[in-house]
Amino acid sequence: MRPSDWFLPALWSAMAAVLVGALVGREAEALAGFGVGAVVFIAGLAVGLRGRVRRAQVVSRPFPEAWRAWLDRHVPLYAAGSNADRQRFERTVLVALDAWSIEGVDGVTVDDTLRLAVAAGAGVMLWGRPDWDVPAGRSILLYPGTFDDEYSTIDSADFDGMAHPQGPVILSAPAVLSGWKRTDGYNVVLHELAHVFDFDPEGADGLPAFLDPRSVDAWKDLVRTEMRRAKLGKGVLRSYAATNPAELFAVATEQFFERPARLRQHHPELFEALAALYNVVPPDEELQSPGGSLMARRWSAGDA
Ligand SMILES: [Zn+2]
Repeated sequence: MRPSDWFLPALWSAMAAVLVGALVGREAEALAGFGVGAVVFIAGLAVGLRGRVRRAQVVSRPFPEAWRAWLDRHVPLYAAGSNADRQRFERTVLVALDAWSIEGVDGVTVDDTLRLAVAAGAGVMLWGRPDWDVPAGRSILLYPGTFDDEYSTIDSADFDGMAHPQGPVILSAPAVLSGWKRTDGYNVVLHELAHVFDFDPEGADGLPAFLDPRSVDAWKDLVRTEMRRAKLGKGVLRSYAATNPAELFAVATEQFFERPARLRQHHPELFEALAALYNVVPPDEELQSPGGSLMARRWSAGDA
Protein backbone atom coordinates (compact mmCIF):
# COMPACT_ATOMS: atom_id res chain seq x y z
CA MET A 1 0.00 0.00 0.00
CA ARG A 2 1.31 3.45 -0.92
CA PRO A 3 1.44 6.30 1.66
CA SER A 4 -1.17 8.15 -0.45
CA ASP A 5 -3.60 5.25 0.12
CA TRP A 6 -3.52 5.96 3.84
CA PHE A 7 -3.76 9.68 3.75
CA LEU A 8 -7.42 10.43 2.98
CA PRO A 9 -8.97 7.67 5.16
CA ALA A 10 -6.67 8.76 8.02
CA LEU A 11 -7.57 12.41 7.53
CA TRP A 12 -11.34 11.81 7.48
CA SER A 13 -11.14 9.45 10.46
CA ALA A 14 -9.07 11.96 12.43
CA MET A 15 -11.55 14.76 11.70
CA ALA A 16 -14.51 12.58 12.72
CA ALA A 17 -12.63 11.48 15.85
CA VAL A 18 -11.84 15.06 16.89
CA LEU A 19 -15.44 16.16 16.30
CA VAL A 20 -17.09 13.28 18.15
CA GLY A 21 -14.43 13.32 20.87
CA ALA A 22 -14.92 17.07 21.45
CA LEU A 23 -18.70 16.66 21.66
CA VAL A 24 -18.46 13.79 24.13
CA GLY A 25 -15.75 15.63 26.07
CA ARG A 26 -17.97 18.67 26.42
CA GLU A 27 -21.10 16.74 27.44
CA ALA A 28 -19.35 14.19 29.69
CA GLU A 29 -15.69 14.47 30.60
CA ALA A 30 -12.45 14.94 28.68
CA LEU A 31 -11.16 11.39 29.22
CA ALA A 32 -14.39 9.88 27.84
CA GLY A 33 -14.16 12.23 24.86
CA PHE A 34 -10.60 11.06 24.18
CA GLY A 35 -11.62 7.39 24.42
CA VAL A 36 -14.63 7.76 22.12
CA GLY A 37 -12.54 9.80 19.69
CA ALA A 38 -9.92 7.04 19.55
CA VAL A 39 -12.59 4.40 18.85
CA VAL A 40 -14.09 6.54 16.07
CA PHE A 41 -10.61 7.03 14.53
CA ILE A 42 -9.80 3.32 14.49
CA ALA A 43 -13.25 2.35 13.16
CA GLY A 44 -13.08 5.02 10.44
CA LEU A 45 -9.61 3.91 9.39
CA ALA A 46 -10.69 0.26 9.25
CA VAL A 47 -13.66 1.08 7.00
CA GLY A 48 -11.65 3.48 4.82
CA LEU A 49 -8.81 1.03 4.25
CA ARG A 50 -10.91 -2.11 3.83
CA GLY A 51 -10.85 -1.96 0.00
CA ARG A 52 -7.15 -1.19 -0.09
CA VAL A 53 -6.27 -4.00 2.29
CA ARG A 54 -8.31 -6.38 0.16
CA ARG A 55 -6.49 -5.21 -2.97
CA ALA A 56 -3.11 -5.65 -1.30
CA GLN A 57 -4.07 -9.23 -0.41
CA VAL A 58 -5.34 -9.96 -3.92
CA VAL A 59 -2.25 -8.68 -5.75
CA SER A 60 0.06 -10.67 -3.49
CA ARG A 61 -1.49 -13.96 -4.66
CA PRO A 62 0.88 -16.16 -6.67
CA PHE A 63 0.56 -15.86 -10.46
CA PRO A 64 0.75 -19.33 -12.07
CA GLU A 65 3.57 -19.95 -14.57
CA ALA A 66 1.03 -21.55 -16.93
CA TRP A 67 -0.81 -18.22 -17.03
CA ARG A 68 2.43 -16.39 -17.88
CA ALA A 69 3.05 -18.84 -20.72
CA TRP A 70 -0.50 -18.28 -22.05
CA LEU A 71 -0.10 -14.50 -21.90
CA ASP A 72 3.29 -14.70 -23.66
CA ARG A 73 1.67 -16.61 -26.50
CA HIS A 74 -1.51 -14.57 -26.84
CA VAL A 75 -0.97 -11.02 -25.61
CA PRO A 76 1.79 -9.23 -27.57
CA LEU A 77 1.77 -6.25 -25.21
CA TYR A 78 2.55 -8.53 -22.27
CA ALA A 79 5.10 -10.53 -24.27
CA ALA A 80 6.93 -7.35 -25.23
CA GLY A 81 6.83 -5.77 -21.78
CA SER A 82 9.58 -5.20 -19.25
CA ASN A 83 9.50 -7.24 -16.06
CA ALA A 84 7.92 -4.33 -14.21
CA ASP A 85 5.22 -3.92 -16.90
CA ARG A 86 4.46 -7.64 -16.83
CA GLN A 87 4.14 -7.67 -13.06
CA ARG A 88 1.77 -4.73 -13.18
CA PHE A 89 -0.29 -6.54 -15.85
CA GLU A 90 -0.44 -9.63 -13.64
CA ARG A 91 -1.65 -7.57 -10.69
CA THR A 92 -4.39 -6.05 -12.86
CA VAL A 93 -5.45 -9.56 -13.94
CA LEU A 94 -5.65 -10.69 -10.29
CA VAL A 95 -7.69 -7.60 -9.35
CA ALA A 96 -10.08 -8.18 -12.28
CA LEU A 97 -10.53 -11.85 -11.35
CA ASP A 98 -11.37 -10.78 -7.81
CA ALA A 99 -13.69 -7.95 -8.89
CA TRP A 100 -15.66 -9.86 -11.54
CA SER A 101 -17.88 -12.90 -11.23
CA ILE A 102 -17.33 -15.01 -14.35
CA GLU A 103 -19.96 -17.67 -14.96
CA GLY A 104 -20.76 -20.11 -17.73
CA VAL A 105 -24.25 -20.37 -19.21
CA ASP A 106 -25.86 -23.32 -21.05
CA GLY A 107 -23.16 -25.81 -20.17
CA VAL A 108 -20.06 -23.61 -20.60
CA THR A 109 -17.39 -24.70 -18.14
CA VAL A 110 -15.34 -21.75 -16.97
CA ASP A 111 -11.77 -22.98 -16.67
CA ASP A 112 -8.64 -21.01 -15.85
CA THR A 113 -7.89 -20.25 -19.50
CA LEU A 114 -11.30 -18.67 -20.05
CA ARG A 115 -11.02 -16.67 -16.84
CA LEU A 116 -7.56 -15.49 -17.82
CA ALA A 117 -8.71 -14.66 -21.38
CA VAL A 118 -11.40 -12.39 -19.94
CA ALA A 119 -9.25 -10.73 -17.27
CA ALA A 120 -6.38 -10.19 -19.75
CA GLY A 121 -8.59 -7.53 -21.34
CA ALA A 122 -8.28 -5.38 -18.22
CA GLY A 123 -4.51 -5.91 -18.24
CA VAL A 124 -4.29 -4.65 -21.82
CA MET A 125 -6.56 -1.64 -21.40
CA LEU A 126 -4.94 -0.46 -18.17
CA TRP A 127 -1.39 -1.19 -19.42
CA GLY A 128 -0.42 2.46 -19.76
CA ARG A 129 -2.96 3.74 -17.25
CA PRO A 130 -2.31 2.05 -13.92
CA ASP A 131 -4.18 4.89 -12.22
CA TRP A 132 -7.48 3.77 -13.81
CA ASP A 133 -9.54 1.36 -11.75
CA VAL A 134 -10.66 -2.05 -12.94
CA PRO A 135 -14.44 -1.63 -13.37
CA ALA A 136 -15.84 -3.04 -10.12
CA GLY A 137 -18.60 -5.55 -9.50
CA ARG A 138 -18.98 -6.74 -13.08
CA SER A 139 -20.78 -9.97 -13.80
CA ILE A 140 -19.50 -11.74 -16.92
CA LEU A 141 -21.66 -14.45 -18.49
CA LEU A 142 -20.02 -16.79 -20.98
CA TYR A 143 -22.28 -18.30 -23.63
CA PRO A 144 -21.47 -21.41 -25.69
CA GLY A 145 -21.58 -19.47 -28.96
CA THR A 146 -23.05 -16.43 -30.68
CA PHE A 147 -26.42 -15.21 -29.42
CA ASP A 148 -29.16 -12.85 -30.55
CA ASP A 149 -30.70 -9.85 -28.82
CA GLU A 150 -32.94 -12.19 -26.80
CA TYR A 151 -29.85 -14.16 -25.68
CA SER A 152 -30.89 -17.12 -27.75
CA THR A 153 -28.09 -19.17 -29.33
CA ILE A 154 -30.03 -19.96 -32.51
CA ASP A 155 -28.18 -20.48 -35.81
CA SER A 156 -28.93 -16.99 -37.12
CA ALA A 157 -27.62 -15.32 -33.94
CA ASP A 158 -24.61 -13.12 -34.61
CA PHE A 159 -23.61 -11.34 -31.40
CA ASP A 160 -20.25 -12.32 -29.92
CA GLY A 161 -20.66 -9.94 -27.01
CA MET A 162 -22.94 -7.44 -25.35
CA ALA A 163 -22.36 -5.07 -22.43
CA HIS A 164 -25.10 -3.54 -20.32
CA PRO A 165 -24.58 -0.32 -18.36
CA GLN A 166 -25.90 -1.73 -15.09
CA GLY A 167 -26.09 -5.42 -15.90
CA PRO A 168 -23.78 -8.21 -17.01
CA VAL A 169 -21.29 -8.37 -19.85
CA ILE A 170 -22.24 -11.31 -22.06
CA LEU A 171 -19.57 -12.96 -24.17
CA SER A 172 -19.41 -15.95 -26.49
CA ALA A 173 -16.79 -18.26 -24.94
CA PRO A 174 -15.35 -19.42 -28.34
CA ALA A 175 -15.11 -15.76 -29.45
CA VAL A 176 -13.26 -14.86 -26.22
CA LEU A 177 -10.59 -17.46 -27.00
CA SER A 178 -10.35 -16.81 -30.75
CA GLY A 179 -10.05 -13.06 -30.05
CA TRP A 180 -6.61 -13.67 -28.52
CA LYS A 181 -5.49 -16.33 -30.99
CA ARG A 182 -5.12 -14.06 -34.00
CA THR A 183 -4.17 -10.44 -34.39
CA ASP A 184 -6.94 -9.84 -36.89
CA GLY A 185 -8.55 -6.76 -35.38
CA TYR A 186 -11.33 -8.79 -33.72
CA ASN A 187 -11.24 -9.14 -29.95
CA VAL A 188 -14.62 -9.26 -28.25
CA VAL A 189 -13.13 -8.84 -24.76
CA LEU A 190 -11.45 -5.56 -25.70
CA HIS A 191 -14.57 -4.47 -27.59
CA GLU A 192 -16.96 -4.98 -24.68
CA LEU A 193 -14.53 -3.58 -22.12
CA ALA A 194 -14.27 -0.44 -24.26
CA HIS A 195 -18.05 -0.11 -23.84
CA VAL A 196 -17.73 -0.63 -20.09
CA PHE A 197 -15.14 2.16 -19.87
CA ASP A 198 -17.45 4.28 -22.00
CA PHE A 199 -20.54 3.86 -19.80
CA ASP A 200 -21.86 6.79 -17.84
CA PRO A 201 -25.38 7.24 -16.40
CA GLU A 202 -26.76 7.88 -19.92
CA GLY A 203 -25.15 4.75 -21.37
CA ALA A 204 -22.29 4.44 -23.86
CA ASP A 205 -21.81 7.54 -25.99
CA GLY A 206 -18.36 7.02 -27.50
CA LEU A 207 -16.90 9.53 -25.03
CA PRO A 208 -14.89 7.40 -22.62
CA ALA A 209 -15.21 8.51 -19.01
CA PHE A 210 -11.46 9.04 -18.68
CA LEU A 211 -11.12 11.30 -21.74
CA ASP A 212 -9.36 14.57 -20.89
CA PRO A 213 -12.14 17.23 -20.91
CA ARG A 214 -9.89 19.47 -23.05
CA SER A 215 -9.89 16.79 -25.77
CA VAL A 216 -13.65 16.24 -25.95
CA ASP A 217 -14.40 18.53 -28.92
CA ALA A 218 -11.49 17.27 -30.99
CA TRP A 219 -12.47 13.67 -30.13
CA LYS A 220 -16.07 14.23 -31.25
CA ASP A 221 -14.88 15.71 -34.58
CA LEU A 222 -12.52 12.80 -35.10
CA VAL A 223 -15.26 10.25 -34.33
CA ARG A 224 -17.66 11.90 -36.78
CA THR A 225 -15.02 11.82 -39.54
CA GLU A 226 -14.11 8.21 -38.84
CA MET A 227 -17.76 7.11 -38.77
CA ARG A 228 -18.27 8.66 -42.21
CA ARG A 229 -15.20 6.84 -43.52
CA ALA A 230 -16.31 3.53 -42.02
CA LYS A 231 -19.73 3.93 -43.61
CA LEU A 232 -18.10 4.46 -47.02
CA GLY A 233 -15.81 1.47 -46.52
CA LYS A 234 -12.70 3.67 -46.43
CA GLY A 235 -9.87 2.80 -44.08
CA VAL A 236 -9.55 -0.40 -42.08
CA LEU A 237 -12.36 -0.12 -39.52
CA ARG A 238 -15.19 -2.56 -40.23
CA SER A 239 -18.48 -0.95 -41.24
CA TYR A 240 -20.02 -1.77 -37.84
CA ALA A 241 -17.94 1.15 -36.50
CA ALA A 242 -20.34 3.49 -38.36
CA THR A 243 -23.28 2.35 -36.18
CA ASN A 244 -22.73 5.04 -33.54
CA PRO A 245 -19.84 6.77 -31.68
CA ALA A 246 -19.76 4.03 -29.00
CA GLU A 247 -19.21 1.30 -31.62
CA LEU A 248 -16.60 3.45 -33.36
CA PHE A 249 -14.66 3.68 -30.11
CA ALA A 250 -15.00 -0.05 -29.39
CA VAL A 251 -14.02 -1.19 -32.90
CA ALA A 252 -11.12 1.29 -33.00
CA THR A 253 -9.91 -0.02 -29.62
CA GLU A 254 -9.80 -3.57 -31.00
CA GLN A 255 -7.78 -2.42 -34.02
CA PHE A 256 -5.48 -0.29 -31.89
CA PHE A 257 -4.35 -3.15 -29.70
CA GLU A 258 -4.53 -5.92 -32.32
CA ARG A 259 -3.28 -4.25 -35.51
CA PRO A 260 -1.65 -0.99 -34.44
CA ALA A 261 0.65 -0.61 -37.47
CA ARG A 262 -2.29 -0.99 -39.86
CA LEU A 263 -4.37 1.50 -37.88
CA ARG A 264 -1.50 4.00 -37.74
CA GLN A 265 -0.97 3.70 -41.51
CA HIS A 266 -4.62 4.22 -42.47
CA HIS A 267 -5.93 6.33 -39.57
CA PRO A 268 -2.95 8.28 -38.18
CA GLU A 269 -5.06 10.79 -36.25
CA LEU A 270 -7.22 8.12 -34.65
CA PHE A 271 -4.10 6.13 -33.77
CA GLU A 272 -2.50 9.14 -32.09
CA ALA A 273 -5.71 9.90 -30.17
CA LEU A 274 -5.93 6.32 -28.87
CA ALA A 275 -2.20 6.22 -28.07
CA ALA A 276 -2.70 9.36 -25.94
CA LEU A 277 -5.87 7.99 -24.35
CA TYR A 278 -4.42 4.59 -23.43
CA ASN A 279 -0.93 6.04 -22.92
CA VAL A 280 0.72 3.23 -24.87
CA VAL A 281 2.03 2.41 -28.34
CA PRO A 282 1.38 -1.32 -28.82
CA PRO A 283 4.03 -3.41 -30.63
CA ASP A 284 3.49 -3.58 -34.40
CA GLU A 285 1.65 -6.66 -35.58
CA GLU A 286 4.44 -7.35 -38.12
CA LEU A 287 6.62 -8.26 -35.16
CA GLN A 288 4.06 -10.69 -33.81
CA SER A 289 3.29 -14.22 -34.84
CA PRO A 290 0.80 -16.67 -33.33
CA GLY A 291 2.19 -19.08 -30.77
CA GLY A 292 5.06 -16.94 -29.51
CA SER A 293 6.03 -13.61 -30.96
CA LEU A 294 9.42 -12.38 -32.13
CA MET A 295 9.05 -9.68 -29.51
CA ALA A 296 8.51 -12.27 -26.81
CA ARG A 297 11.62 -14.19 -27.78
CA ARG A 298 13.70 -11.06 -28.03
CA TRP A 299 12.52 -9.76 -24.70
CA SER A 300 12.77 -12.99 -22.80
CA ALA A 301 16.36 -13.32 -24.04
CA GLY A 302 17.07 -9.81 -22.79
CA ASP A 303 15.36 -10.39 -19.47
CA ALA A 304 17.13 -13.64 -18.69
ZN1 LIG B 1 -20.27 -2.87 -29.46
